[in-house]
Amino acid sequence: MGGVVGLFSRKKIIKEILDYYRKIWAIGHALNLLHWDTETYMPEKGVVERSSAVAELSVLAQKLITDEKFVKLVEKAAELKDLNDYEKGLIRVLERTIRVAKKLPPRHVHEFAKVTQEAVVVWRNAKKANNYDLFKPYLKKIIELNREKAEYLGYKEHPYDALLDLYEEGMTTREVEEVFRVLEPGVKKILERVLEEKTYPQTHPLEEVEYNIRAMKRVNERVLRILGYPFNRARLDESAHPFTIHMGIFDVRITTRYEGKDFKRSLLGTVHEFGHALYQLQIDKRFSMTPLTEITSLGLHESQSRFWENIIGRSMGFVETIYPILAKSLRFIKNYSPNDIYLYFNTVKPSLIRTEADEVTYNLHIILRFKLEKLMITGEVKADELPELWNQEMERLLGIKPKTYSEGVLQDIHWSMGSIGYFPTYSLGTILAAQIKYHAEKQLGNIDEIARERRFKQVREYLREKIHRWGSVYPPKELLQRSFGETINPEYFIKYLEEKYLQKQF
Ligand code: MG
Repeated sequence: MGGVVGLFSRKKIIKEILDYYRKIWAIGHALNLLHWDTETYMPEKGVVERSSAVAELSVLAQKLITDEKFVKLVEKAAELKDLNDYEKGLIRVLERTIRVAKKLPPRHVHEFAKVTQEAVVVWRNAKKANNYDLFKPYLKKIIELNREKAEYLGYKEHPYDALLDLYEEGMTTREVEEVFRVLEPGVKKILERVLEEKTYPQTHPLEEVEYNIRAMKRVNERVLRILGYPFNRARLDESAHPFTIHMGIFDVRITTRYEGKDFKRSLLGTVHEFGHALYQLQIDKRFSMTPLTEITSLGLHESQSRFWENIIGRSMGFVETIYPILAKSLRFIKNYSPNDIYLYFNTVKPSLIRTEADEVTYNLHIILRFKLEKLMITGEVKADELPELWNQEMERLLGIKPKTYSEGVLQDIHWSMGSIGYFPTYSLGTILAAQIKYHAEKQLGNIDEIARERRFKQVREYLREKIHRWGSVYPPKELLQRSFGETINPEYFIKYLEEKYLQKQF
């Protein structure tokens, strides 16, 4: 494959690195395909053999990436003065991977994998049984392992920095705190007014209306086609928890779920994953099979899914565009006008469950988790105290209190998977989506109009140019600076909410 000709210089060392990397890439390719299969089509009994296969392949990948000869090659290349931006990006991504792989002792990696694998199963049962004590010993261990991890990885200011950086390169705890300091009061003020003025409903009758699953599948497929989802390079399947995964630039897959009622969940979930998929699909094709197709920023990735789900998917223009599709497949739609559907897509209500939260309240759920995670990592709060603290914070932020552990501290899968430092990226993405809207509109005009006129190609091209095509050539902050002349700023999101929720004319 001569795909990278013209992108990278003719340096022998870069060629050697890319040739070697293809083995690591191939294992990643296989692991992603296995992961996708596990979540979609694997027969139930396949799980034990599958886990072994995944563990063995992961170890193999780890060995390849920490191979002395390869590490030396990367170190040598990093010292070269005349690298172009692509080569610098390539080396930066590899150095990050190698650093993590080398700093964490095998004993820690092994224990982490073992504990979290069990913990996910225990968490699922604990949540079902509303039994926090079942999960508590695992959470204790996971906090301990994450505190160790932060020490192994190292940090300048706050141990949480070390974990956050794994998901959001270059972001610090202090920076997230600064963003949230603006976000929290801003959102709370808007929420109060929306509830008071009742412009948007808290609930909608369509939430209870059942749909035919086959008909809903057709709707999702048709909507994806309108948005420009290339079915010759991408798939739509079903899984319990929707996700996006890529085998490469030419094979990207999303999943959705069909609960049988409340159709916006399936539809907007699909549109959300479309946003993630489009990012992968629009990476410069010449990066195929190189480290530059790796995700370095979950925040940027989430900005793309939120852009399509919220900024486009929840706009009046989009509702008008898809209304004929809905009306054709879902018989009950004829009882509702586009305006009804718009309000149904945009209900606002303080609720207990993060994944069901609306645009206005969503970030408050993240602010809560960020606060608790920081306290876990500094050791200021113990696993025993978490449920109570959770409830206090819910009351402070959203004015409601969970009655059960399942709708409180046990609701998310993330901690059981060992992921601490991940949650803030959801908010960063939501904020960035509004920021990108502002900049996109300066160039393209009103997004609502664009959605109404189905000019999605213009949006795709804009996002390709500004974000997608670059893959991980630049760290997130640098890419934002280059493309928009600024880094993350929560004011855009506040302004977006104000315009949409407080100044909207119907
Ligand atoms: Mg997402």
